[in-house]
Amino acid sequence: MEWLQEIALIVLSISFFTFVALFGRIPALRKTPIGLIYRIIWIHIPNFLGFLDTRLFGGLFVRGWNRTGRYLLHENHALVLIFFIILLVISEVLFIPSAWPRIDLKHRVCTVILVVLPYLFLYASVTTTSAITPQNHHEQMRRYPYDHVLFHPGFVCKTCHLLKPARSKHCSLCNMCVSRHDHHCIWLKNCVGQNNYHYFMGLLLSTAVLLTYGAYLGYVLLDKTLQDAIVRNLPGVAYFGRHWSTGTTWSIYMHLWGLAIADDLRIGGVFLLALLTTPLAAAMFLYHVYLLWAGTTTNESAKWSDWQDDVADGLVFKAMGSQVSPRRAAVDKDVVEPTVPWPITNDQVLLLSEGPPRVGYRVCMESRSIVQPEDNEAPIDQRWTSVGSMKEVVNIYDAGFWSNLQDAMRIRRR
Ligand SMILES: [Zn+2]
Ligand SMILES: [Zn+2]
Repeated sequence: MEWLQEIALIVLSISFFTFVALFGRIPALRKTPIGLIYRIIWIHIPNFLGFLDTRLFGGLFVRGWNRTGRYLLHENHALVLIFFIILLVISEVLFIPSAWPRIDLKHRVCTVILVVLPYLFLYASVTTTSAITPQNHHEQMRRYPYDHVLFHPGFVCKTCHLLKPARSKHCSLCNMCVSRHDHHCIWLKNCVGQNNYHYFMGLLLSTAVLLTYGAYLGYVLLDKTLQDAIVRNLPGVAYFGRHWSTGTTWSIYMHLWGLAIADDLRIGGVFLLALLTTPLAAAMFLYHVYLLWAGTTTNESAKWSDWQDDVADGLVFKAMGSQVSPRRAAVDKDVVEPTVPWPITNDQVLLLSEGPPRVGYRVCMESRSIVQPEDNEAPIDQRWTSVGSMKEVVNIYDAGFWSNLQDAMRIRRR
């Protein structure tokens, strides 16, 4: 039975590390044990090993590791996609023929539907791009207004030579500007953006449901095996109708489950894999529900987190756009005229500044910061106020959960 525990431990560890790698960075978890473990695993331990390697081997291992890491994370390969499909196919080929004769019609129908859905969503997510092209650029520019915090008008993509629409980002792996960029997904070998975010959410949800259902079916089948094997062999009618586990101790209960899994390895192995990976799929889905609730994308949540750090350091100042840059209204009018007006507008401008801006300052848009005038005696510009908390900043892309959901799921075409 020890090998069974080892496999369970390995799957659990992989799920845990993936969970930490995915969620340890997000602002909401930064100050929790998950954030701490993330920093230990991904920053402190690699730094320490790098230090040892430099001292002992002249940096030999770090160079090799960096090459591998660069390939895995920063090149557009299909390794993760292929691994996922192989895992899915093997699990289904092992599980379904063995379970099929033992389940009734309604479970057979559920099985077929739940097995097919992730493949459909996967196909749609991988093959749909959200590229911004010269042909659709005008339409893309009208999709969202600029918020003058995360996205500013007037920036041109150096590769595509097109004005960057609000909420877009250039992806160097896909080599295109991506509309409503969420993240480049190494799982899909594609960017998740405007045109495939709803498919991606479908993929996460259908995979989480499939895994939950696989774990549930596996539990029911193995439990029935145990019931048949144990209750049938017990003497007397006193046990009739009783569940096999009645009166067993925790350790015997776990031991019998181990026996049942080892005895029926096709069902047992897949049951275990589904059970241990369900939390990961569910957590990924829930994280994206959280992003929709917060009215942000993965890309924007990283930018918000940078602003949050700068606010905490007292570097962020806010002013009314119409007061500090009177041309802004005119510029916005040229650039943004949404097909359906975005429900929230705000006149805020946020910039970084070492101390309160003084009269005669310059603005450096590249670094989003204020350059103070050389005259140290210049009076403080009263139009600017220090931002003490993120609550003072309006996220215009958060139009409420239902609106955000409709927008991301393309229920409401804009
Ligand atoms: Zn671009
Ligand atoms: Zn990409």
